[in-house]
Amino acid sequence: APAPLPAPAPRRRLRVATASLAGCFGCHMSFLDMDERLVGLIDLIVLDRSPLTDIKHPGPCDIALVEGGVCNAENVHVLRELRRAAKVVIALGACAVNGGLPAMRNHRGLEDILRKVYEERPDGGAGIPDDPELPLLTDKVHPLHEVVRVDYFLPGCPPSADAIHKFLTDLAEGRTPRLADALLHFD
Ligand code: SF4
Repeated sequence: APAPLPAPAPRRRLRVATASLAGCFGCHMSFLDMDERLVGLIDLIVLDRSPLTDIKHPGPCDIALVEGGVCNAENVHVLRELRRAAKVVIALGACAVNGGLPAMRNHRGLEDILRKVYEERPDGGAGIPDDPELPLLTDKVHPLHEVVRVDYFLPGCPPSADAIHKFLTDLAEGRTPRLADALLHFD
């Protein structure tokens, strides 16, 4: 009888890191909205640094999915760390793509916004926080590509679970990610 064919080598799973910078975690919630498809994804990806794993620093990985814009020194640090660690960086959602909601503060100037939020209130406010432990705010909220090189932009607020699933499975199966028009949202 012919010798049995060797079993195909198991496909290497992609290591994926995720982070939320100046965002609302809505994009991460959309990731979790893949629901039962997450089980299928486990065959294709393994999570590295992520709020979902509680790993704080990324090891070498294939993909960094980054939600949120860049609004402070800690965001810059985390983003640069991810850029060094990951072969592919994906701006996940409107805040990462163009600054999104947090970038609305760019129209007023940082000082003005801080005074409005913390001081000019009916109750007098508690004063602008100045604890040295707080990360230094950047003058403007920046989209990711103004700070590091970004390989892919996945728009939407948030991108749908369908869009994230298609994007990740395309990459995991060696295809250039392509989204049909119905999966592309800029709102
Ligand atoms: Fe939240 Fe929308 Fe920004 Fe995602 S793009 S972090 S859902 S505000």
